[in-house]
Amino acid sequence: MKSLTDLTFDNRFARLGDAFSTHVLPEPIAEPRLVVASTAAMALLDLDPREADSEVFAQLFAGHKLWNEAEPRAMVYSGHQFGSYNPRLGDGRGLLLGEVLNDAGEHWDLHLKGAGQTPYSRMGDGRAVLRSSIREFLASEHLQALGIATSRALCVTASSTPVWRERQESAAMLLRLAPSHVRFGHFEYFYYTQQHEQLKQLGEHLLSCHFPACLEQAEPYLALFRQVVERNAELIARWQAYGFCHGVMNSDNMSILGITFDYGPYAFLDDFDANFICNHSDDSGRYSFSNQVPIAQWNLAALGQALTPFVEVDALRETLGLFLPLYQAHYLDLMRRRLGLLTADETDEALIQRLLQLMQGSAVDYTNFFRELGDSAPQQALARLRDDFRDLAGFDTWAADYRARVASETDSQEARRTRMHAVNPKYILRNYLAQQVIDAAEQGDYAPVRELHAVLSRPFDEQPGFERYAERPPEWGKHLEISCSS
Ligand code: AMP
Ligand code: MG
Repeated sequence: MKSLTDLTFDNRFARLGDAFSTHVLPEPIAEPRLVVASTAAMALLDLDPREADSEVFAQLFAGHKLWNEAEPRAMVYSGHQFGSYNPRLGDGRGLLLGEVLNDAGEHWDLHLKGAGQTPYSRMGDGRAVLRSSIREFLASEHLQALGIATSRALCVTASSTPVWRERQESAAMLLRLAPSHVRFGHFEYFYYTQQHEQLKQLGEHLLSCHFPACLEQAEPYLALFRQVVERNAELIARWQAYGFCHGVMNSDNMSILGITFDYGPYAFLDDFDANFICNHSDDSGRYSFSNQVPIAQWNLAALGQALTPFVEVDALRETLGLFLPLYQAHYLDLMRRRLGLLTADETDEALIQRLLQLMQGSAVDYTNFFRELGDSAPQQALARLRDDFRDLAGFDTWAADYRARVASETDSQEARRTRMHAVNPKYILRNYLAQQVIDAAEQGDYAPVRELHAVLSRPFDEQPGFERYAERPPEWGKHLEISCSS
């Protein structure tokens, strides 16, 4: 266990030089106080959990202090936003402080979000508000607990520094951890500015630091692209299986590591709705729940384009073609498990599709449906769940087919329950729950956000006494409008 002063840095990205990032010092926020910290994330840096209580912790993560070995840099990138190319984005309000080398030999980027203006701030103030920092913190640590690959969050620090959005809010900082902060948009930036030497340097950095196995392949860049395609196929399958809607799948928000990245107006589905749009600013529904699959493929195509100086177009196209079948295989596998099925049957895909069609337009809570389906024997569970479906005759036909499918597998109800509860969370990060703890935190009460974080860190466990967190949203919490403004 280490203290904060014991961290070892090895700043590999900073060493790539000024074509890739710019040295910028964090601008501190006033009267910093720790809102919430993740001991699981601290463990990635071998940090003693008690360090979160030290005064220097809040100071370090509010820009007041810096390790001698840190090299704060704002990264440059570009990307496709809502389908249009934006030639210059970059870290407008976040800084890569450095890379910490842990005892296991892993590198973890320390990224301070909300650290003030940089050369890439454009018209922005370089700040992040408390509301969006708490939302990113909760989601990062919750998705990790759900088994969905994601960047991590170490802590949120609040302040008295005012910030203007639609109303006056206060500035906060989030300390984000990830093995790399390279996005699809990094490649696009060097490709579209025709800096092919730097594009190559970026590729080599990623290959040697993050994809060393690809270096052994005949075509390392093609192998890298294949890795990104494979990882995204699995990631998006998990999003779809668990009802996670990212909301801003611009190519600058897509991690090259295939992890969930840059949380904005995200949401988990409450009632199932394939057409759900969580981003209030997304008028056309480009990033609707069901569009996430084709959009991920679209973004991968944008990344592939930026790799054309190194790889034949046909080979890239062929590799891109792997995305959908891989996605479908992962998704089917996850949904089978969510339904408690042990074996694969060729009718399963239709069984799943029919269920979702019945859920569409009904008032079926997506998370609770699967949890309750595993709670008791199929006959009883289905009888209880039936009431929320609009098409009762359709549901009865589906339920009969499902029961027959379960009966075809030899398995005790007890084993089935345990297996299903291990993949069907009882607790999910619902927007109304996040809103409640944000309201309290904005009044200076951090106990609710800490409690919610603790509950959501063990989403599959029963947690007696905390059942209220598993409840469906109240009327006011069903239609919260979450905008891009953060
Ligand atoms: P995001 O929507 O958070 O993914 O951000 C898109 C781009 O806008 C990135 O280049 C951000 O760094 C930048 N940006 C977002 N908010 C701010 C802000 N308040 N100040 C400066 N830049 C920002
Ligand atoms: Mg972003």
